[in-house]
Amino acid sequence: MVNKNPHTPSTLQQWPEAAHTLMALMHAQGEVARLTEREQLFNSLLVSVNALLWAFDWDNRQVLYVSPAYERIFGRPTGLLLADYNQWRDSIYPDDLAYAQRTLAQVLEKGAMEDREYRIIDATGQVRWLSDKCFINRNAEPGQRLIVVGIAEDITEKKHLQTELQRLATADVLTQSSNRRHFFECANREFEQARLRGSPLAFLLLDIDDFKVINDTYGHPEGDIVLQRIAETGHAVLRRGDVFGRIGGEKFAAVFPGCSANLARQVAERLQREIQRQAFSHHGQTFSITVSQGLTGRLPEDTDLDSLFARADAALYEAKRQGKNRIVSG
Ligand code: GH3
Ligand code: MG
Repeated sequence: MVNKNPHTPSTLQQWPEAAHTLMALMHAQGEVARLTEREQLFNSLLVSVNALLWAFDWDNRQVLYVSPAYERIFGRPTGLLLADYNQWRDSIYPDDLAYAQRTLAQVLEKGAMEDREYRIIDATGQVRWLSDKCFINRNAEPGQRLIVVGIAEDITEKKHLQTELQRLATADVLTQSSNRRHFFECANREFEQARLRGSPLAFLLLDIDDFKVINDTYGHPEGDIVLQRIAETGHAVLRRGDVFGRIGGEKFAAVFPGCSANLARQVAERLQREIQRQAFSHHGQTFSITVSQGLTGRLPEDTDLDSLFARADAALYEAKRQGKNRIVSG
C-alpha cells in the first residue's frame, strides 16, 4: 500500500519520533486546556469582583486591559476605552481632573500611588467616587515600554455614609445648624486665625425671650418650630464665612471673622428685626417672639475664645436685666 500522507511514518524507525511528537502535542493540548480553564476562572472572578483592574501603556497612552467592573461602574463599553484612553479622562469630574492626572503622573517618580480618591461622571450622569491604587509594572525590564497597573474601587456609598456621619456628628438634630461641639470647634479655629493675623473678630450670643412661656402657652412642638425658624433666619442673615450654631436649648451663637464689633452690631440688629418680623400661628392664635443678644469683639489681650464668650454672656445677661428684646455690647 502506498503511503499518501507525508506526515504518517512509513518505517518502523520513525515511530518513536512520531510518538514523541504526539506526546508533546497532547501535553501542549493539556496545557492549553489548563490555561483556558485558568483564564475562564480568572475572568469569572473578575466579573464577580467589584474592583476595577486596569493596565495602561504609559508611552503610547493606551489602555491595555480593563476588567468587566469598568462597564458596571462607568456604564460605558470597555471596547471604547481600549480604543481611546480619553474615554477615561473625559469621565473624570472636572474639578478632580487635574488631581487625577497629577497623581497618575506621580506614579513614575514614586513607583506606586496609594488611595487616590476622585470623582467620575458615569454614563447616566451620576457622580461616583473612586478610590484608585496604581503601580509601575515591576516586571518591566529597562528599555521596555512602561506599563502602569491599577486597581480602582467604587466608594460612592462609603463617601455618602461618611458625609452623613459627619453631618450627624456636627449638626443639631432639631435645627440642622451646627451643634455646640462643632460650633466651638469652628469658632476656636477662627479665633486662633484672627489672633495670629491680628484681624478683628466678633462674638455674639442670642437667647429667645420668655421661651418657657411660649412652650407653656403653645406647646413644646410649637416651641420647636420657633427654634427652627430662628436657625433659618440666622443662616439667611449671616454671611458665608460666619460661624453659627445652637449651643444650648434656646441659645444660639455666632462668630464673625474679620468683623469689628460695630459692624457685627449691624448684623445683630438685622437679626433682631428679622426674628421679630416672623409671625407664628397656633390654632388660629398668632404670636411673635423677641430675642436678646450679647455682643463683643476680640481685644488684643484675649488669649482664647473663652474670654470673648464670658464678655458676650455678661452682655446677654445685661440685656435680659435691662428688659429683654435688645442688644448689649460688652
Ligand atoms: P429668658 O427670657 O430669661 O431667656 O427666659 P426663658 O423662658 O427664655 O428661659 P428659661 O431658661 O427660663 O427657659 C428656657 C426654656 O427653653 C425651658 C425649656 O423647656 C425650653 N427648651 C429648651 N430646649 C428646648 C427644645 O429643644 N425645644 C423646646 N420646644 N423647648 C426647649
Ligand atoms: Mg430664654
